[in-house]
Amino acid sequence: MVRLSADVSNPGYFMITVVLAAAMVVLSVSCGDESSSKFGYEEFFLVPVRAHLIQSRNIPQLSTKLRSKDVILLMEKVNEIYSQAGVHFYLESIWQEPAGSESILSGFKAGIPLNMYLFLRPEQSLDQNLVHLYYVHELPVNGLTILKGEGGVFINDSARLIDVKGGTDDTLSRVTSHELGHVLGMTHTVSSSNLMNEGTSGFQMDEVQVEVVRNHIQYLKNYSSTGSFFVDGNAKFTGGQEGKAKSYFEILVSIAGESPIKYAAEEKLLEIEAIKN
Ligand SMILES: [Zn+2]
Repeated sequence: MVRLSADVSNPGYFMITVVLAAAMVVLSVSCGDESSSKFGYEEFFLVPVRAHLIQSRNIPQLSTKLRSKDVILLMEKVNEIYSQAGVHFYLESIWQEPAGSESILSGFKAGIPLNMYLFLRPEQSLDQNLVHLYYVHELPVNGLTILKGEGGVFINDSARLIDVKGGTDDTLSRVTSHELGHVLGMTHTVSSSNLMNEGTSGFQMDEVQVEVVRNHIQYLKNYSSTGSFFVDGNAKFTGGQEGKAKSYFEILVSIAGESPIKYAAEEKLLEIEAIKN
């Protein structure tokens, strides 16, 4: 595990924009086209997520050891898992910020009750149009999803899983994928190789689960098809916002599969590159 390099004593927060996140994803998944997804490129749904790297001065066990690059890498693995369902999560942004309501949370001397973790969401980064992933160092469970209200997904960066045959060795991407499974309407299953089994490294999804996920996505705000995502990116491009457009096209290029939409996104990236030079 990488140690956090940020100055934890500084209560300020900062945001790393998606421009950086997307660029790094593209670099490292450019050879990832061997996906076995049964969904074609144009059937993929894109879902934005906002990741939060929580820091706490008063409750040190909340301060995650993860850095932005760890989250970028683990989201690639999450997307490998979700290619089974034709779903691609993209990092809208990554925030490194102090926990909210620390005075309330530090009052629980015998441990924070699970339903109280909602208080650790920092207010300034809430956005009801997004799925939020809050990374903390220690939780009494591997992951926790609260769907009530704006809710949130809380992930223990020191999570442990029971290894099963054919399972993943990337614990945090499995825990993140499992919790996102709850956000997308899935419930627990008994098969140990399944993504929704509790506490194992399994990551398979069956056909019924895939249907549940694809139906449930339509209840989320802000989801897109690859086609509509291209249109949104192109609107930024024609509106002179090349920097923003670039991250849209980079995300489209990072999705496995072949499609005229993907080729058009590749061409747009070359155009943007030519404008810069
Ligand atoms: Zn669960």
